Formats: sequence, C-alpha cells, structure tokens
Amino acid sequence: MCSKEGLQSKLPLHKVLPFANVDGIGNRTSIFVQGCDIRCLYCHNPETQDVKFKEREVSIEDLIKEIEPYTPYVRGITVSGGEPTLYHKQLEVLFDELHKQNLTCYVDSNGYFDRERIASLIEVTDKFLFDVKTLDSSGDLIGVKKTGNLENLKYLLKLGKVEEVRHVALTSFVDSENVVRQISEILKDYPEVLFRIIKVHTRGCMHEDLIKDKVPSNRFMGNLGKIASDIGVKLVRVQL
Ligand code: SF4
Repeated sequence: MCSKEGLQSKLPLHKVLPFANVDGIGNRTSIFVQGCDIRCLYCHNPETQDVKFKEREVSIEDLIKEIEPYTPYVRGITVSGGEPTLYHKQLEVLFDELHKQNLTCYVDSNGYFDRERIASLIEVTDKFLFDVKTLDSSGDLIGVKKTGNLENLKYLLKLGKVEEVRHVALTSFVDSENVVRQISEILKDYPEVLFRIIKVHTRGCMHEDLIKDKVPSNRFMGNLGKIASDIGVKLVRVQL
C-alpha cells in the first residue's frame, strides 16, 4: 500500500481513550478497534466483537488528527479491541506515521493470528501485550476452535516484542493451572517480561450467568502466582 493510499484506508473504530495506564508501561492513548475473531465467555467489550458492525470508520489520516491533542502527553499508543491484528495493513500505516513522532506503538492481542500474514505489522510494532486465553482448541471458552497462540507467543518473545503476557483465570472452561504452568515454562527465560494473572470478574461481562460460579478464590489465585514464581518467572503479578 503506498503511503497516500494507506493514509486513506479505513479502520473500524470502537473508541479512543485519550489516557490509559493499564495498556502497557507509562501513560498511553488507547485505540479500540471494532471486530474480534473469538468470543470469550467473559468478554467485557462484547459490543466490539462484531466484525461487520461498523458504527464508525475512520481513515488513518483522520485518526492521527483525532489523537493529536493527546500525543504530547503520552509515551505512545496501544491498539486494543476487538482484535487489532485483523487490521494489520491499516495499523502498519498508522504505526509508521506515529513512529515519525517518536511515539511507541503497542498491540494488545489474543494471539490467534497468522504470523506470516501480519509479518509487516509485527515488524513495526514496538511491543505486544499478549493475552493467552486458553490452550484448549475445543472453543469452550472462546467460542471458536483456534490453535497456535503459544507458538506465536514464543515467536514474538524471541524477537523481543513482548512486554506483558496475561491470563484470565477461571475454575472451569479453561485449565488455568495448566495454562500458567505452560506459560511459565516459556517465560522463565525472559526475566524482563511481566506475567499478569488476572482473576475473572463477572460484572458487566457477556455471559455472567455462565461464569459467576467459576470465579477462583484468592487462595486459588495465590497458588497460580506461586506456580509461576516456583517455575522461575521473575515478574509475576496476581490481580484479584
Ligand atoms: S479477545 Fe475475547 S475479551 Fe477480547 S474483545 Fe475478543 S472476545 Fe472480547
């Protein structure tokens, strides 16, 4: 895509959050795209899932203008969703432009992407926030059958492109203990990468009825943190 054509390409946008400090290190502007390729039972942004729903589409050029008032006060931007990698071509253009302003560009992903297809986006992304939902391909938790997320995680880690790995823990639909073990075996070799283990919270989520009795106890969560530390992960944060 040439630069002029790229700047006019459209991005389905859910919302822009001018300032956020939970989407990567430092103060950042968060951009939420519309459309996701999975259906997590605990999704708190179900309105962002529908790929066909386009409440608002903005050109990359207009999006850059929209965030201009905030950029002097942030380290960079984080694109979240939805699933940002669905829009790899548009984001590649956005990131190229924002790098010219010395802003860092992060992607918050569920990790189920085709890494060859999004190779150019990976190249221009400073860091990924990588959410490992499950390792089970049955689709019970995420609504569709998917595999390959751990391989993608290993690939990005080797490139030095991961700032944080997350797992949302439940007592059913996903074997959180196994997920934590497997992630920890990988992360023990990357002491600079934060592993955030998050207790699922049900208020306002998509299927509150299905998961309200699958919320782990604090003791269960503490044990997950201990598993990660015992395996050798240096930066572990358990979020209750
Ligand atoms: S990855 Fe899951 S939680 Fe995130 S937007 Fe998609 S369905 Fe919702």
